[in-house]
Amino acid sequence: MSNSVFSLEKRLFTPANLADNAIPLIYAFPNEYSVGITSLGYQVVWALLSQRPDIDVSRLFTDVREPLPTQAELIGFSLSWELDYVNVLNLLEDQQVPLRAGDRSDDQPLVFGGGPVLTANPEPFAAFFDVILLGDGETLLDDFLDAYQQVRENSRRHQLKALAQVPGVYIPALYEVTYISDDGPLAAISPIDSDVPAVVQKQTYRGNVLSASTVVTEKAAWENIFMVEVVRSCPEMCRFCLASYLTLPFRSASIEASLIPAIERGLEQTRRLGLLGASITQHPEFEALLDYISQPQYDDVRLSMSSVRTNTVTPQLAKTLVSHGAKSITIAIESGSQKVRDIVNKKLDTNEITAAAQQAKAGGLKSLKLYGMAGVPGEEQEDLSETANLLIRLKKQVPGLRLTLGCSTFVPKGHTPFQWYGVNRQAEKRLKFLQKQLRSQGIDFRPESYSWSVIQALISRGDRRLASLLELTRGYGDTLGSYRRAFKDLKGQLPPLDFYVHDQWPTDRVLPWEHLAGPLPKATLIKHLTEAQQVM
Ligand code: SF4
Repeated sequence: MSNSVFSLEKRLFTPANLADNAIPLIYAFPNEYSVGITSLGYQVVWALLSQRPDIDVSRLFTDVREPLPTQAELIGFSLSWELDYVNVLNLLEDQQVPLRAGDRSDDQPLVFGGGPVLTANPEPFAAFFDVILLGDGETLLDDFLDAYQQVRENSRRHQLKALAQVPGVYIPALYEVTYISDDGPLAAISPIDSDVPAVVQKQTYRGNVLSASTVVTEKAAWENIFMVEVVRSCPEMCRFCLASYLTLPFRSASIEASLIPAIERGLEQTRRLGLLGASITQHPEFEALLDYISQPQYDDVRLSMSSVRTNTVTPQLAKTLVSHGAKSITIAIESGSQKVRDIVNKKLDTNEITAAAQQAKAGGLKSLKLYGMAGVPGEEQEDLSETANLLIRLKKQVPGLRLTLGCSTFVPKGHTPFQWYGVNRQAEKRLKFLQKQLRSQGIDFRPESYSWSVIQALISRGDRRLASLLELTRGYGDTLGSYRRAFKDLKGQLPPLDFYVHDQWPTDRVLPWEHLAGPLPKATLIKHLTEAQQVM
């Protein structure tokens, strides 16, 4: 692909005229252009940077780049997939920037990062970043850049200390982590100076105007899509769910002030619309939004939406989707077992799942995708049988509707009540069981790779000692075997893989992200954990 991809972009914002002495900044997405430009977060931050007269931004992807400054002052990364860290390191090397923040000198760029992976748990990557932005970018990015302007001419050390005062700006080098032993749990995390905040609070944007695409292009992974964020976070609080717990409170975009103006702007450029959010059908005026999209002038618009809450699948929703080109709808059920759904706080009963399938079919949809999970804490073998039976029953109850069960393995995520649990070693066997039961009945079963879940868990519960391991696996490849090999190489210098991935951690253990505060205090997470355990 050549750089002409940039000329195919239809931009929906006006860049600022650059001031003299604007800061040369490289804004990188550590994957290919088609992936990066489909990330709403990346698009929005790029537009924010471009609209500041004091920032001269150039974009960098793994396959294409805009003309880059000879001497960047800032290099930013948006990290939305864990394994893209390999590309972060490759791109830094390509820019001749030392991989570890501690090896960078005053005349080298400050490397900052943000996005879902770093907000969830930045610690495995802490050594590679000078600055990590925690939380919603809306105000945080400007606060960070304004603060940087004030110290632009100062030494790196002075800059970092000043930036650490900005809420949500995390400077890993200003915190010392100690361990009970080299291969044991953490002992403490403390700021290295009294003027560095002991805890960094993740920032939450509370406005009712949410994000929308700032660019539309045929080269995006979802060709020519215009995306609007309908809601942020999810009020359901399933006990494993990062998309809910880490981004609370639930916020919805104002129809009048946010959604309609954005959709009108976007649909001047394209006829493909994506509604985004963890639980879009929970928008308090979702029906009004559907009515708006159902107007005749939008008849030719192709509509896609992320998964919807099971008990909100109505014939109106199905019909609207069908008339805009959709053939299927996705619902997350987590499990066919009521007990498991109660454990995870999924407020859903089996009748509602059947009703959703019936409504989907009645509205004209051809297929229903269900999401489930194996290895949830407290799950037993018979719960898997219940999941298989539910699907088999649904196939009979709603004939003609194609059913797919996508199934992942439970992975513990920081800032959720299930962060203390490990990955269940039985999960792989349980996925195979479901596969055998369902495929023999003609039900499409799509398991997520168990090995990938293990790597995800390693990163989601990892600490700073993983930096050396990640540097090694970069050379070894991204298979689970490579990670095991790297653990062997570093034996004695960090805990074994099982410690991070499979062990259940006591709730009084110092967590690697103990100094990074999410929306809820630890005591609340423990309370929710206890409630779940009472149903186990
Ligand atoms: S309903 Fe979905 S998005 Fe909401 S908390 Fe549960 S799993 Fe997360």
